[in-house]
Amino acid sequence: MNLPKTMKAVRVYGPKDYRWEEVPVPRIGPGEVLTRVLATGVCASDVKAFQGARVWGSVDMPPYIEVPVTAGHEFVGEVVALGEGAPERYGLAVGDRVASEQIVPCGECRFCKRGQYWMCQQHDIYGFKKDRAEGSWAQYMRYPSRAINYKVPRTIPPEQAALIEPLACAIHAVERGNIQLGDIVVIAGLGPIGLCMLSVAKRKGAGVIIGLDMKPYRLELARQFGADLTFDVSKGDAIGEIMKLSGGYGCDMYIEATGAGPAISQGLQMIRRLGTFVEISVQAGPVAVDWSIVGDVKELNINGSHLGPYCYPIAIQYLAQGYVNGAKLVTHQLPLHDYLKGIAITHQGEKSIKVVLLP
Ligand SMILES: [Zn+2]
Ligand SMILES: [Zn+2]
Repeated sequence: MNLPKTMKAVRVYGPKDYRWEEVPVPRIGPGEVLTRVLATGVCASDVKAFQGARVWGSVDMPPYIEVPVTAGHEFVGEVVALGEGAPERYGLAVGDRVASEQIVPCGECRFCKRGQYWMCQQHDIYGFKKDRAEGSWAQYMRYPSRAINYKVPRTIPPEQAALIEPLACAIHAVERGNIQLGDIVVIAGLGPIGLCMLSVAKRKGAGVIIGLDMKPYRLELARQFGADLTFDVSKGDAIGEIMKLSGGYGCDMYIEATGAGPAISQGLQMIRRLGTFVEISVQAGPVAVDWSIVGDVKELNINGSHLGPYCYPIAIQYLAQGYVNGAKLVTHQLPLHDYLKGIAITHQGEKSIKVVLLP
């Protein structure tokens, strides 16, 4: 195969310092896969990273991103070359469509050794660790030898296959809630992951699914994704409404996917005693809440949710079957060099759900 020597890529140097550069096409070694990127999503975390938030770190930890690095962790590619052993290991051939889990586990740490690879201590996530896990906002991309790769059926259009990652995150978050048949489930924040969670919660047997957001068009879409009810939290008393329809007890489960601090205390208030609170969003900074609610008042289960471990095969299946409506989620497709526009549209969120970049 005649590959070019260089390619275009979006390189991250620091907050608001992303550059459109000509860089070498990655070289692959044993067990590695080289792909031509077909489509790659813009995530809310990409926006936060662009603005300089300490994504996937915390105030007590150093910033997560190691620069310079190529951005992007939601993607699908086409195999253009396979390192020694890779065809057997992954069941892949040149020309296949392939996605890779966003984290490349080290395989050595206590978490990896216990099968908890998504909490890998080294935490090499595509687009955040230079050299070790270069991202997908580029024409070509290398999946390292420890990557977890999946063949993607051609029946899923590439721009929808870029949703496999956020959908896997949505599935994991819903699983973390351990829904019981008939539960009242509230999902706050109806971005791409929130909308996916509505469809997944429906499948898990929730009794009443309620979507909360402040954008009318998102609330409108929520009904098509499985919400039984929606409330605009900027108008009216969402907590009062949830109390009313649950006979004064509160919802069984609350999933916080807004990235906005007030949604956390809102959840603590509208959830019932012994309920389950799932936290999946990335907050820009520390948030203060009445923590006594968690123990003394309600004895809540607080379950964090990070990435989409063991969920990629189901995500691929749900998109292939149309169980999750990928076509409705992809609202914008832009050429890769318009990445700044993609970040701006995602940030604004006006009439946009998922922005997909096409290299
Ligand atoms: Zn993402
Ligand atoms: Zn590890």
